[in-house]
Amino acid sequence: MFRSGHLSGGVHPKSHKNTDAFSTIHLDDFKEIHIPMSMHIGPPCTPVVMVGDQVKVGQLIGEANDPMAVPIHSSVSGLVTAIRKEVTSDGHSVEVIQIESDGLYAPDESIAPPTVTDKESFLKALRDSGLVGLGGAGFPTHRKLRIPTGKKVECLLINAAECEPYITTDFRQCAEHPDEIIAGISLVLKYLGIPQAIIGIEDNKPLAEKLLRDALAKTEQAMRLKLAISVKLLKTIYPQGAEKLLIHALTGREVPTGGLPIDVGVLVINVSTVRFIAKYLKTGMPLVRKHLTLDGSGIKKPCNVNVPIGSMIPDVIAHAGGQAAEAGKIIMGSSMMGVAIDRLDMPIIKQNNMILVFDKHEADLPAESPCIRCGRCVKACPMHLFPFELDDGARRKNIEQLKDHHVLDCIECGCCAYVCPAKRYLVQNIRAGKGSVRT
Ligand code: SF4
Ligand code: SF4
Repeated sequence: MFRSGHLSGGVHPKSHKNTDAFSTIHLDDFKEIHIPMSMHIGPPCTPVVMVGDQVKVGQLIGEANDPMAVPIHSSVSGLVTAIRKEVTSDGHSVEVIQIESDGLYAPDESIAPPTVTDKESFLKALRDSGLVGLGGAGFPTHRKLRIPTGKKVECLLINAAECEPYITTDFRQCAEHPDEIIAGISLVLKYLGIPQAIIGIEDNKPLAEKLLRDALAKTEQAMRLKLAISVKLLKTIYPQGAEKLLIHALTGREVPTGGLPIDVGVLVINVSTVRFIAKYLKTGMPLVRKHLTLDGSGIKKPCNVNVPIGSMIPDVIAHAGGQAAEAGKIIMGSSMMGVAIDRLDMPIIKQNNMILVFDKHEADLPAESPCIRCGRCVKACPMHLFPFELDDGARRKNIEQLKDHHVLDCIECGCCAYVCPAKRYLVQNIRAGKGSVRT
């Protein structure tokens, strides 16, 4: 039996869930696709096609040569027109396979549901599918779900919190595919031998909660058995969905510094990721499309889209209604934790789950002023850190100070910067401080 914990710290930014009521738009009208050979945290894949080759949807085009890498597949059918190095939104220069789409989306002949009979064949199937965590971290799912020898998982936690402003992709998955989510959870429990699962969802998403509960009841009725899956509501507060905080909120357990969820007997997986697992085991179509939210004052029609991986961002925005204003600031990911990029002409990769485009007016960064030791950042920090000390240590490159104040425990949530009246660039400095401690 797990008890619930409560998040101390955290903030209540305006939710801006402008797109939650609109169905996901499926976009296919792309003439050219650029698929990078690195869309995971491990080393890049090696291209296995050449310029001039014809490819089909789901065909392997990049081979993974490392346990932390996953294979890459074509998201369109068409002609390979170039293979060259390009910079992607995560800042890396990698080989990119350029494909001219024939618009037919013909599936590769090899596409068929994988044969899965046990844990090893299940994990192999996940690897072959090219799946990385769809929450945005790019961690290969087959590695995340490999339970080390000697460790035991008592509970699978499904992260459907989606606590960050603007983003609604997970909410739309819950609204549009609740049955596949329940099916995906059941498959993970079955093949990994985990006794129970808890879906954690914030209490500002009653529709998603209802649909998931209905889907669970429907599945139980069809199977004539009670599944060990429950839905738990979480308080709406940012960053409720951060992994360590979610674990505490749903189980009362605390992951130790430097530890992993498995150290406290749990695994956490994103809700869209489990939905993909169910779909893949049924169809055998690898991860070739991505759901993402488009929003911000620079976007004419904020929406959720489902696009081929490798679609160029300007094409996606144009097909979804276009820009409302010249971009002053572009963020890949959320407004609190995302990364600002300086140009739009990059491809959509597996890790992208939101693009925010703000006009010049909203992009203005307020000037920093000296810290007034008000302590608001300390109160807001969900990891119980002293952000002003970390900021000071990072600016003065004082490694001891950074270590003494546990800089590596920072989850870069941005709560401290959000509340700081002096508008200190806390997260950027703390991030740099973490880098100095690691080197
Ligand atoms: S110090 Fe890190 S964990 Fe704490 S509020 Fe700031 S960004 Fe979040
Ligand atoms: S909130 Fe800002 S001004 Fe206040 S203590 Fe923290 S860093 Fe200093």
